[in-house]
Amino acid sequence: MLATIQVRHEEALIRDLQQEMRGPVIPPGHPQYDSLRQVWNASVDRYPAVILRCTGAADVVRAVNYARSQDLLLSVRGGGHDMAGRGVCEGGVMIDLSLMKGIQVSPGERRVTAQSGLTWGEFDHETQAFALATTGAKVSNTGIAGVTLGGGYGWLMRRYGLTIDNLISASLVTAEGQIVKASENENEDLFWGIRGGAGNFGIVTSLQYKLHPVGPVLLSGIALYPAERGAEILHFFREWMASAPDELMSLVAFRAAPPAPFVPPELRGKPVTVVLLCYAGPVSEGQKAIAPLRSLGAPLIDRIGPMPYLAVQRLLDAAGTPGYQVAVRSNHLPSLSEGAIDTMVDYAGRMTSSHSVMLVVPLGGAIARVGELETAFSHRQAAFDYSVYTLWSEQSDSEHHLRWTEDLGSAMRSYSAGVYINQIGDEGTERVREGYSPAAWLRLRQLKAKYDPSNIFRMNHNIPPN
Ligand SMILES: Cc1cc2nc3c(=O)[nH]c(=O)nc-3n(C[C@H](O)[C@H](O)[C@H](O)COP(=O)(O)OP(=O)(O)OC[C@H]3O[C@@H](n4cnc5c(N)ncnc54)[C@H](O)[C@@H]3O)c2cc1C
Repeated sequence: MLATIQVRHEEALIRDLQQEMRGPVIPPGHPQYDSLRQVWNASVDRYPAVILRCTGAADVVRAVNYARSQDLLLSVRGGGHDMAGRGVCEGGVMIDLSLMKGIQVSPGERRVTAQSGLTWGEFDHETQAFALATTGAKVSNTGIAGVTLGGGYGWLMRRYGLTIDNLISASLVTAEGQIVKASENENEDLFWGIRGGAGNFGIVTSLQYKLHPVGPVLLSGIALYPAERGAEILHFFREWMASAPDELMSLVAFRAAPPAPFVPPELRGKPVTVVLLCYAGPVSEGQKAIAPLRSLGAPLIDRIGPMPYLAVQRLLDAAGTPGYQVAVRSNHLPSLSEGAIDTMVDYAGRMTSSHSVMLVVPLGGAIARVGELETAFSHRQAAFDYSVYTLWSEQSDSEHHLRWTEDLGSAMRSYSAGVYINQIGDEGTERVREGYSPAAWLRLRQLKAKYDPSNIFRMNHNIPPN
């Protein structure tokens, strides 16, 4: 009897919600429920009590008020690419922003205002219509808000800074269900916190960014080298990046050669060392900047040449295909030390899955010219990041993939200092804390106590209130 009353009560609440929201309310059993609760990391299989598909700030206010009044766990999903699937919660309210795709480019002012349900592919599509862009993630179906709130790495970051360095303002819905704006002139403390402090302070509904003239054609692409040249290439890469112009962004990847049409069948699935690059300037200058790479001799496959920026932004899409079990380890590296190089090359030679990828990414350039406490993203002086994404299909195989990933993470610890929070899996508060300097962490905790003292927004890289 009690259970029946409970179900009736919940049905009534859902009916009320549907009347008060413009977007669809999706309870369990709805035909779209199962597809909507999926996230990039397929090992995450959570069942929210309800999925609220918001169409704008008013829906988000209603959704937050509903979760708070019912004392329900709340999660926020934009592009669904969180490493640990924090966009979906068990038994709570999943706030799905993916219908919020409004975008307005102001080419004269070189600005864009974008709703938080957009992916980077959609965002770039609109800004490139004016040959403009800002730093955005390198896989096109990641969400603009999730990437921005953690910092935002991309091909343009050495030239134009992290995504947050291009953020002008944001609109948020707070834990109390208030709509507020954050910028250099309004709620400045909040504006500082959302630039690196993740989704801890509210649900961002729209973001305004600076844009820059980019492309539409840039020098970019990939070159595949034999796996045995991994250490040599990392040594070269260390020197090359130390003196590279800001326009040049490159990264080294260890992975199996993909089953792409340009890869000969006999090479597919074999381990290779890959150099990827993008020159954010004229193609002719880019050719000069990559001359040192040519001194390494001919690669197995050379796919470097002029290409549309929109294609550059999809170079890594195949490597980021959703639907795999995932384990992640990553850290900033103060330098690319001999120990770090030897460790990465050793583990790359023993990868447990042909779907996995290990990346070495340089920072520097415009990123390093912003002060450590100017935004909540602290580790501006890191020289490189390493990250490994172990991807596999069968849950029953998990143990040895997880062990390899954890062992690599442990082996890299002594060469590491700090971490980019958007590259953390489900690793606990101590790991989140490593994303920040002690001063930034203290300030973030105070800000959390001000804007979300009850920690309603906790399905994220959580910063506990002070
Ligand atoms: C394949 C792949 C490629 C990636 N490439 C890059 C890259 O090139 N550069 C880079 O910097 N990062 C990259 N990342 C990491 C990425 O920044 C994070 O995974 C980020 O959280 C993804 O955002 P999302 O909206 O897609 O994810 P979601 O899972 O939807 O969101 C992640 C979390 O962000 C918070 N959040 C999302 N939207 C909002 C919002 N509107 N308001 C408040 N909080 C919100 C929530 O806490 C949510 O749990 C990549 C990740 C993957 C899986």
